[in-house]
Amino acid sequence: MSSEAQKRDICELNSEELSEILINEFSEKRFRATQIYEWLHKKKAADFSDMTNISKDLRERLSEAFRITVMEPVEILTSKKDGTKKYIMRLYDNNVIESVFMKYKHGNSVCISSQVGCRMGCSFCASTIDGLVRNLSAAEMLAQIYAIERDTGERVSNIVVMGSGEPLDNYDELVRFVRMISDDRGLNISQRNITVSTCGLVPRIRQLSEEGLQITLALSLHAPNQAVRERLMPVAKAYELSDVLKACEYYYEKTKRRLTFEYAVVKGVNDNREEALQLAKLIKGMHGHVNLIPVNPVKERSYESPDKKDVYEFQAVLESHGINATVRREMGRDIDGACGQLRRRYIENAGICTD
Ligand code: SAH
Repeated sequence: MSSEAQKRDICELNSEELSEILINEFSEKRFRATQIYEWLHKKKAADFSDMTNISKDLRERLSEAFRITVMEPVEILTSKKDGTKKYIMRLYDNNVIESVFMKYKHGNSVCISSQVGCRMGCSFCASTIDGLVRNLSAAEMLAQIYAIERDTGERVSNIVVMGSGEPLDNYDELVRFVRMISDDRGLNISQRNITVSTCGLVPRIRQLSEEGLQITLALSLHAPNQAVRERLMPVAKAYELSDVLKACEYYYEKTKRRLTFEYAVVKGVNDNREEALQLAKLIKGMHGHVNLIPVNPVKERSYESPDKKDVYEFQAVLESHGINATVRREMGRDIDGACGQLRRRYIENAGICTD
């Protein structure tokens, strides 16, 4: 690893921590720390030399002690249909991750990754095929958004943590990220516009409930019962479905944030009428809605997309039982596929070794 990579990452520090270090280790005033924090997190500076209202001497001392995490987009695919952009970003250690920019009527949304790879093993997901490589730092989660704002020249108003990785398997960095991105000294994105998606790590959902955050929790449910869930998601063997749902309800009680239940519809696995009925019963009375996602076939896996009419019928069954359900609009359909596939293709083409 280069000496640069061994330096402390200044973007990882929240504003209180940065102030403390600037005051105690650099004998600077608090307002300097505020200026530097704003350079990093409001103006998205990529280098200390950008910080024009900071003295040259301090900039040099800072760059000797710290590095700045910057994401470098190494491949960008742009949809001609809806303006969706998919990014392959390179990290300082040459790992690559995916992030996605989507334009909606209500604003711009970014889907970020929380880990390089994933160890949860969901059987339809490409991100997990080679397992977990490493966690992303909070700074690397922030930097995905900064890089996209820089590239598009647009403001991001919504964030979904639904790229590669299991965010609650990288709990501390995820919570640090949420606090920093919603800090008014940074991009100040409302916590209510942030959704964190989890495969259902029960103790972590309960812990998240106590953080005093206002983010939306999305549960990857994908099944109307324990048996089907175990077939699709190995993590289901560790946490009984009823316990996962209890933890989600606890999250609702603590935060009063309505839940999202994600349900990847897989042909012949979880897409029939009885399963829709069972799902309706399972979550009746819970404070949430269902997001149906026609599964995106992954070439390494044998699962098939469901027929459109089956998805709409599934939705109709839920609705007729009083469960609010939407079918996810596929964004950027013309620019390649499912979660984690772009990264895999990039790695294969570039001949990058992932282990
Ligand atoms: N680990 C987290 C977040 C990452 S995945 C989680 O499990 O929720 C984001 C969502 O995309 C999850 O609901 C996941 O199950 C879903 N997903 C993964 N691969 C998919 C595929 N091939 N087709 C449709 N949805 C997929």
